[in-house]
Amino acid sequence: MSISLLTFGCRLNAHESDSMAHYARQGQANDAHETDTIIVNTCTVTAEAERQARQAIRRAHRKNPEARIIVTGCASERNKAQWAALPGVQRIVPNADKMTPALWGAHSATPPPSRHIRALLQVQQGCDHRCTFCVIPFGRGDSTSTPLEEVIQRGRILSEDGHHEIVLTGVDLASWRIDDQGLGFLCHRLLQEIPALHRLRLSSIDPILLDPDKGDRLLWDLIANEPRFMPHLHLSLQAGSDLILKRMKRRHNTTRVAALIARARQLRPTIGFGADVIAGFPTETDELFNETHDFLLEQQIPFLHVFPYSERPNTPAARMPALPKAIRQERAAQLRQVGDTNRALFLSRFIGDETTILMESATTGHTPEFANVQLEDSQHSTRGMLQPCCITRQNNDGTLLARTIPS
Ligand code: SF4
Repeated sequence: MSISLLTFGCRLNAHESDSMAHYARQGQANDAHETDTIIVNTCTVTAEAERQARQAIRRAHRKNPEARIIVTGCASERNKAQWAALPGVQRIVPNADKMTPALWGAHSATPPPSRHIRALLQVQQGCDHRCTFCVIPFGRGDSTSTPLEEVIQRGRILSEDGHHEIVLTGVDLASWRIDDQGLGFLCHRLLQEIPALHRLRLSSIDPILLDPDKGDRLLWDLIANEPRFMPHLHLSLQAGSDLILKRMKRRHNTTRVAALIARARQLRPTIGFGADVIAGFPTETDELFNETHDFLLEQQIPFLHVFPYSERPNTPAARMPALPKAIRQERAAQLRQVGDTNRALFLSRFIGDETTILMESATTGHTPEFANVQLEDSQHSTRGMLQPCCITRQNNDGTLLARTIPS
């Protein structure tokens, strides 16, 4: 009998699905079920994500009516009855329980080997903030931090498994905290305890964590002085207009973010920036949109993830006067163009440079700054290898081309 996964939403969900599959297969070995099992890991960030999951469940049931369907994730967390009523659904697993090996019949709690070259390491869960557009806290609960020793042990296993890069992830990574120590402390200890680890990268962070005045000093120290701490910061920015940031109930403003970016570039000139941005938030006039557009252009942020605003039920933003969907889409397209312009400028600076690529296939990989690189001609390397290269030119699709340097 088979175990299959249907995963929706963020890479945290993808990471958790890998673990659930691992534990469920162990459980299957211990106590074989008579039928196939389909685990659906749902997302509630947009209405579309929920619609796709419901559609996938109906399709899976039509295709295999005998299969038992188990649903978990942020969408079913918010409305258990609705998801339990879907055809073939036999169980709803709370988000807080889905990573419990015993729940899937597994006897050992050894996490699965990572199938990603850049290995994800979840260190934080949930969120204590209440941004006006967001429902994640209602799906994932309050913020919790994985104990330091557990993170170090997991990091060691990943490094011993041959992973040269670890990416720390969480729902609100910036909230990792044990006693009065923050994320900078955790990163310092990880790099200290695992000298063989070549690269430590952060996934999306709240800009408030790196506020130049009241931010995490140990993190600034790593940015300035630690070559193994990757010069790439993906900011959960959301907008480049202070009035919109206020209406989103975000904790940063454009002046502080501009100061953060300027300081990081001073300390680490090649540093790469990414940002999540919502286009067409309720009450966003043309003027307010232009503020975001111009801010992203001024700050030259190359890696933009732009999302047209999507109402989420029972959020304060859903009660604000909304913009037509067409305008949201149009503005999102304009901001993506800003991203393309910024990225072309950013990538052009690396031409002629020698650098090391972490190969994610035999011909593609990422620089420390998170630039996407393709090896030239028919050059090949090895997946998972740190490959010395010389950047030769830039492609039109936002990638760089490189020639390997014999080591
Ligand atoms: S910080 Fe805001 S956007 Fe992020 S998960 Fe928490 S409430 Fe949602």
